[in-house]
Amino acid sequence: MSVLPILRWPDPRLSRVCDPVSGDAAGLAADMLDTMYAAKGRGLAAPQVGHMLRLFVMDVTWKTGAKAPRVFVNPELEVSYTRFESGEEACLSIPGVAARVNRPPEVVIRWSDLDGVRHEEHMTGFAARCVQHEVDHLNGLVIFDRLPPDHRAQMEKDYAR
Ligand code: ZN
Repeated sequence: MSVLPILRWPDPRLSRVCDPVSGDAAGLAADMLDTMYAAKGRGLAAPQVGHMLRLFVMDVTWKTGAKAPRVFVNPELEVSYTRFESGEEACLSIPGVAARVNRPPEVVIRWSDLDGVRHEEHMTGFAARCVQHEVDHLNGLVIFDRLPPDHRAQMEKDYAR
């Protein structure tokens, strides 16, 4: 168990597409959960701690209730881009900034657990937003990349302050 340093944007590793996980990722996932809880986050993707792998951890309930740690290996999203909702998102790699991001309000996610068993789940609400944010990280995207240019410029200015 250890808390890992979190990379901060614009570290170039946050803009790279990650590789599929092929080996055992249990140790990394445990460290990422420790890191996420220590940083008071609800999601953390492997590239945020410098591992360029398609893996993220999430716990959308621990701030208001019991801990429910989840690990998603090689996730794939099925998203219908017919409807969007605006919601506020923060990112552990862009501390101090919260941006309103438009995203589809529901997704189907397929992923492997740490034993290699494949799962599928329909998600809505904050969980749907969170998994889209984390899968973006695996594709080299951060919240800034989801903003219109003028909004992005303002947010980057706020962040630089
Ligand atoms: Zn993030």
